[in-house]
Amino acid sequence: MRAYNFCAGPAALPTAVLEKAQRELLDWQGKGLSIMEMSHRSADYVAVAEKAEADLRQLMNIPENYKVLFLQGGASLQFSAIPLNLLGKNSKADYIHTGIWSEKALKEAQRYGDINVIEAGTQIDGKLGIKPQSEWALSEDAAYVHYADNETIGGLQFAGIPEVNAPLVSDLSSSILSAPLDVSKFGLIYAGAQKNIGPAGLTLVILRDDLLDQSRADIPSLLKYSAQAKNDSMVNTPATYSWYLAGLVFEWLKEQGGVEAIHQANLEKAKLLYGYIDSSDFYNNPIAPANRSIMNVPFTLADEALEKRFLKEAEQNNLLNLAGHRSVGGMRASIYNAVPLEGVQALINFMDAFVKANG
Ligand SMILES: *Cc1c(COP(=O)(O)O)cnc(C)c1O
Repeated sequence: MRAYNFCAGPAALPTAVLEKAQRELLDWQGKGLSIMEMSHRSADYVAVAEKAEADLRQLMNIPENYKVLFLQGGASLQFSAIPLNLLGKNSKADYIHTGIWSEKALKEAQRYGDINVIEAGTQIDGKLGIKPQSEWALSEDAAYVHYADNETIGGLQFAGIPEVNAPLVSDLSSSILSAPLDVSKFGLIYAGAQKNIGPAGLTLVILRDDLLDQSRADIPSLLKYSAQAKNDSMVNTPATYSWYLAGLVFEWLKEQGGVEAIHQANLEKAKLLYGYIDSSDFYNNPIAPANRSIMNVPFTLADEALEKRFLKEAEQNNLLNLAGHRSVGGMRASIYNAVPLEGVQALINFMDAFVKANG
């Protein structure tokens, strides 16, 4: 039996996808070998790679003038690749700081340019929220504006897409494909795969083609967007198996009715869980309602001394990986696309029984 997995990443994958991968593992489509053992230059593999991109383009409604890159190094390597590619001659960028991931991104960028850090976290009625954009001091001449749509550790999410003049760059590692998104509002979107896309080892970059050719001359060629775009993300051997599995997840998402349908399911899961937490005196979520993440739900127990018992008993009930990030503690339930409603219901039933026994 498969447990419900609330891990923040690498995260739950749809069981149907894993079953298909299992069926195809030893002998991919009657070719007598695993897709893992296949050349990335073979016609069979290239067809798999192209189908994954086509399905993603359809799911996200990605305009023609955007390139989709299937890279490696995680979202964290993009923290460096983005300034190296996009800072251009004036070397200035605006970074919106809302938590741990946006901070890591801006720290890397500071190695390459003049970074204007906008502190956007704020307290709203004793809870953490995001300052309205009217209070951000954006620069006049930034090469781009960077933000992390969903702070995976804090459970803090932007309520909408910022409106800025410079190209908008967003880390969507933990929110890509969770809700419809107007890609045309962005210069560049990136996401590590291991939350809502597939296994670790793959990083998606979606960028507008006018931003391809601004990279520094001394940039490593693997990081150079124009080189990766020209070579269909195969400057070197890509993460072939992760790319294939991402393709299976995209097919699964289409079967679920696409991003609009999965968004409705995600809203229902988040509403149930936050609703339960808010109705309880024992559990608390520290985020202002307007900025609550629909993917990562952190919560604390009224008595910190009960945390170990909570985690142990949750595990005995097949509810896995509910510990908060090591830097913040507490609990966190990540309820990505692949976590079903029944998983959230099982979690709430457990939380309620736990309060009755210990509250
Ligand atoms: C997980 C995560 C990252 C880091 O991803 P890696 O692939 O491990 O580099 C960066 N940003 C956000 C928002 C994340 O959730």
